[in-house]
Amino acid sequence: MTKPPIDAQARRAIAPVICYPNTTLPDPHLPDLLNAFKGFTKTAEITVPPRDARSFRVPAGGAFRITSVEAPQVGDLNLWHGNDLGERFFSGKTRALHGTHVTTGDRLWSTLPALRPMATIIEDTLNWYGLDDFGGGVHDVIGTRCDPYTGHLLAGDDYHYCCHSNLLRALAAELDQPLDQLEHHIHDVLNVFMCTGFTRDTGQYFMKASPVRPGDYITFFAEIDLLGALSACPGGDCSASHSSDIATCAPLLVEVFEGEKPSHWSPPDPSPYSRTHGV
Ligand SMILES: [Zn+2]
Repeated sequence: MTKPPIDAQARRAIAPVICYPNTTLPDPHLPDLLNAFKGFTKTAEITVPPRDARSFRVPAGGAFRITSVEAPQVGDLNLWHGNDLGERFFSGKTRALHGTHVTTGDRLWSTLPALRPMATIIEDTLNWYGLDDFGGGVHDVIGTRCDPYTGHLLAGDDYHYCCHSNLLRALAAELDQPLDQLEHHIHDVLNVFMCTGFTRDTGQYFMKASPVRPGDYITFFAEIDLLGALSACPGGDCSASHSSDIATCAPLLVEVFEGEKPSHWSPPDPSPYSRTHGV
């Protein structure tokens, strides 16, 4: 351990500043979106089996809802532009803009160079949770997704029903393409209903039993045409373990809704940055 400098305490005492003040982000017009959503009708319903994933499509101006059914269960969500796998959910920038956990009014942003809202969260029955005494919150954008490579690294075995593999099989089935041509499109997720944080003493990523109960849901307004995939994580409610068949798991319900578009809404354009990068 390096010896602390004489002014170590003073350096630690410097107050932080927010990296990305988000008060200048475009207004999602949440009341307008919610009002339009009230008039939507359900156009599709997909049940995601435990330890597996399913894909779904939502047109721009529609919505989708993920609901807990039967028992507490967390889900790993991937989102792509409906016609371009190259534009996908950017978990890291969403985290930088909105924080470690997302809820009503927050948006899921897409990768560079588009960097535009893919979806806006319009309802979240767990938005009462906030941050608990451990620093834990719900719906995180700090985890990645459970995957067989990390599982093998840590436990030395091959487990095939991690969210990474589940999402890959779902995407391959949707596009009717082989797994090895699509694996690089699987990306860091929104951990729906998962309760996570970082320990205060070691800074390690932790999970704890999700506060979700059957009937809880989170609803997203689709800002652009979306292809989604949702995995019902083998961790179940993630109270103890994942990446194995040990945890009790339940299905998740995905519902797609469409209807008259909100009055103040139009699909967001890709970032207007010139892309000249100083050249
Ligand atoms: Zn998982």
